[in-house]
Amino acid sequence: MTDTWLPFCVPELGPPAKRGYGGVPTRSLAEIEGEVKHSMEGYVAGAIGRLMTPLTSDPYTQASWHISVPKIGKPRQHFALEAICWHAGLPGDRRFDTSLVGNLTLVGIEHEDYPDNKLNANQLHWTVEISRAIRALCPRVAPRPPALRVNLWEHRMLSATSCPSGLIPWAPIIAALKEDDMGMTPQQETEFAALKKQVAALVGEDLTDDALEARLVARDTYLANAGIVITKAMTLIQAGSSRVIVLNDIKAACDRVIADIGAGKY
Ligand SMILES: [Zn+2]
Repeated sequence: MTDTWLPFCVPELGPPAKRGYGGVPTRSLAEIEGEVKHSMEGYVAGAIGRLMTPLTSDPYTQASWHISVPKIGKPRQHFALEAICWHAGLPGDRRFDTSLVGNLTLVGIEHEDYPDNKLNANQLHWTVEISRAIRALCPRVAPRPPALRVNLWEHRMLSATSCPSGLIPWAPIIAALKEDDMGMTPQQETEFAALKKQVAALVGEDLTDDALEARLVARDTYLANAGIVITKAMTLIQAGSSRVIVLNDIKAACDRVIADIGAGKY
């Protein structure tokens, strides 16, 4: 398992306990599908203070993310990209239902937004550099063009959070990333295609756009079916079936889904 720290970020290590689910703290770069660009709702000092607060049963302490982008200075990286952080659910929340898929597959980036609710030039520069690095390092991200809900997300696209949307200037970010893709000479394009093939062989998976699209559809269908199973189970319980037996069945089904997602199946 690799441990990836971006060379242009200042390391400022977060508490190792604030990672993962069920004793599995990390994933591979090949399991990363993109990133969530968050807004801190405050100063960078306040957000990092919260991150560094030891983990307790208090939901305030149950949040973590990979990189903070301050108004002034370089980004600060708190966890390796491979860490499974708790950033995609409700604030201070690591519940499985709202946050699991986003936390397993996405990198969390927090942007200082106080006092003007805007990214300044420093932040725009660094957030694009971070996206470039993720595209370069994660074999599932690079083959698809940079786009919202494909490999770039805001928090509200994933869960009903108070984390504000609308702060991230997506148009210039996506334009800069697309320019990278289009700026290749024919020779570079050939080399890049060969590199993608090598990575695909290494990962042992089809990484063409069509194959990735099919995977996304399969995962959405799977999750929709999981919702139907839970609704049915609730009906059974309400109709008087044994709560313990039904709940055990659900738990077994959930464990299978989590194992499958962990194994990169969905
Ligand atoms: Zn957020």
